[in-house]
Amino acid sequence: MSNEHQQEARAIHVTGIVQGVGFRPRVYTLALEHGLCGWVRNTSAGVDIHVEGDTRQLNAFILALQSSPPPLARIEGFNVQLAGLQHLPNFEIRSSAAQAGVVQPVPPELALCADCRRELQDPTDRRYRYAFLNCTNCGPRFSIIHTLPYDRPQTTMRAFEMCAACAAEYHDPSNRRFHAQPIACPTCGPQLWLEEPGNPAARAHSEAALQAALRVLRAGDILAIKGLGGFHLAVDATQPGAVEALRQRKHRPHKPFALMMANLSQVGGYCRLSEEEGALLASPASPIVLLPWQEARDVTPLAAAVAPGQRTLGVMLPYTPLHTLLLEHMPPLVMTSGNPRGEPMVTDNATARVQLAELADAFLLHNRDIHLRVDDSVVRVFRGATLPMRRARGYAPYPIRLPQATPGILAVGAEMKNTFCLAQGQTAFLSHHIGTLGNYASLQAFESSIQHFEQLFQISPTLLVHDLHPDYLSTRYAQQRAEAEGLPRLAVQHHHAHLASCLAEQGHLGTEPVLGVCFDGTGYGPDGTLWGGEFLIVDYQGYQRAAHFAPMPLPGGDAATRNPARIAFAYLLACGLEPGEDLPPLTALTLAEQRLLRQQLAKGINTPLTSSVGRLFDAVSALLGVCQATSYEGQAAIDLEAQCDPDETALYTGLEGLAGLNPAALLAPVLADWRAGVPIGKIAARFHHSLAEIVAQVSVHLANAHGLSEVALSGGVFQNVRLLEATLRRLEAAGLRVYIHRQVPLNDGGLALGQAALAAHYLNHTR
Ligand code: ZN
Ligand code: ZN
Ligand code: FE
Repeated sequence: MSNEHQQEARAIHVTGIVQGVGFRPRVYTLALEHGLCGWVRNTSAGVDIHVEGDTRQLNAFILALQSSPPPLARIEGFNVQLAGLQHLPNFEIRSSAAQAGVVQPVPPELALCADCRRELQDPTDRRYRYAFLNCTNCGPRFSIIHTLPYDRPQTTMRAFEMCAACAAEYHDPSNRRFHAQPIACPTCGPQLWLEEPGNPAARAHSEAALQAALRVLRAGDILAIKGLGGFHLAVDATQPGAVEALRQRKHRPHKPFALMMANLSQVGGYCRLSEEEGALLASPASPIVLLPWQEARDVTPLAAAVAPGQRTLGVMLPYTPLHTLLLEHMPPLVMTSGNPRGEPMVTDNATARVQLAELADAFLLHNRDIHLRVDDSVVRVFRGATLPMRRARGYAPYPIRLPQATPGILAVGAEMKNTFCLAQGQTAFLSHHIGTLGNYASLQAFESSIQHFEQLFQISPTLLVHDLHPDYLSTRYAQQRAEAEGLPRLAVQHHHAHLASCLAEQGHLGTEPVLGVCFDGTGYGPDGTLWGGEFLIVDYQGYQRAAHFAPMPLPGGDAATRNPARIAFAYLLACGLEPGEDLPPLTALTLAEQRLLRQQLAKGINTPLTSSVGRLFDAVSALLGVCQATSYEGQAAIDLEAQCDPDETALYTGLEGLAGLNPAALLAPVLADWRAGVPIGKIAARFHHSLAEIVAQVSVHLANAHGLSEVALSGGVFQNVRLLEATLRRLEAAGLRVYIHRQVPLNDGGLALGQAALAAHYLNHTR
């Protein structure tokens, strides 16, 4: 028998994101193409394949599967072994086999794919203009899953019985909708309707609902839209009155609104757009991308109130068929999350009717339930790659690989921008964005999401990890649960966790310490002061506080962030720079307020000390008259970044060595510039460049002193890409290797991953 006709068999085991992404149909099609027999099936650990036939064909099949898996699959393990011939007559897709104790990833929500878009716009297609069409390559996933394995009866789609046509597609391995769990059509699937508050009887359905919704938007009214992971409030972004009304009703005076634009060419009319940014906008994750705001002359201008005082816009493309139909012939829409102030986004019709009644003029609803709230993700493109700022839809819960294996752990994250992280083995599931744990509803969401994750991924924590801060609600949760369940817990320092998060997501093994630069808001320091301008020598074992910004008084503690004027006043006094009455922060404070502040500072009443660079930004922002009072977190710093004159490159002198670590080294020349009438944009730029110079000076000094060659950057302040770029350029010029965040946010939204990485190390080295 010649070699060409030799018959052999292979057992192949594939792990990673291989379910719910069309993996088995691809295997099936490839096997048929290569004339092979056998079977493929999902297990709770991945996909098992048995193939047999001609040896050469077997090898070609394996190569083809490895080199061109379905677009949304992420192969992590691909194991091939010789197997015994079973002399099977054909190739088939077998039913799923459960396998206990193994973690199986769940795919996130995926934006409308090109094939479905074509059907949506094809008058001859049976799903023409159907707002809920989807396939194996797109549609809802994570937000509709109750439990695993990912099969229709375990999702909110179980309420809809497939029609004969859909069932035929669902069972046909050669069809794009083979085992597409949310498969639907106008006959059997979810339906759309429009209703008005207080008048639920007067409904318009399907196409009529769409047309009515468009009339609402064109009239400048506010439309509540039930989307993929929750409700949005939408208005026409080119109608100033509509945008103002939305701001008033939402009690949101300044925070920029996100926009949804019809397509890339519409985006190009309003923003400067790089190739990478375009690709990211149109990617299956379809995040909100922050883009430079630059309007072309031939477009209808956006209302200024969309993003007051900003030079960037948060933009996303329509990512569901419903959004696509709404945007078809519309100007850009404001798409902000539908929630009462401070509460999480609403996800169900009944709650929306109550909680959004005062906010919306009409409701565009449907009857596909959202099991889990998933907010829109927010990213920036930095040096051609993603810089995540809020990780949710399209990204969570893709797993992140930990540098070392661990028994089950739960890291509960911080208080603001909360996410938590559930990990086992080397797999870490960082949760979607939960939000600030400041009220009952978000705390509920935090607790129920933890429960959902533990059940979904079958991980029971053996250790609870939390921040050092005793008053974070996440810390309290960990304490209470540890007590109730008799579990051990581990407290980790805030900025140590930030830096560990950066190292862990970058796969750093932590065998050698690195210099970690963490510029943040404030985090609890073990010495009783608030940290946030830190140079730490770190590994997963521990940290040494090698240098930090000199502590400054923060009158009123964290509440001061709402009044940067007060911070500027306190910083000036502490730096020995007597604040003259002509300065902007003083004109923002009454004489009585100033007197009280002086007393408070002199006596140190409720005035913790902080090394936070976030607060230094607040002080400078107020000093320059850019922002005296804030209505959202980080506003003063964001507004200051927006002021920067892009052409200004000068920086202040006297920042050599460690000299720049005294805030006076920056405040004095900033003040001098302001008195000399230097334009604000130039001063803001000089401040940014000077701060980057300080990082470089201190880093080089410490790297030399401690024999380090690597630097990690983390903390919310580095969301400022002007500062990040200026810092990176200098560190790289000094020959240092620099790690930055690419997978998880560098703000507190990524903290839990760092907590998990530290806990994994702890468990590996203390037992
Ligand atoms: Zn599709
Ligand atoms: Zn159907
Ligand atoms: Fe932080």
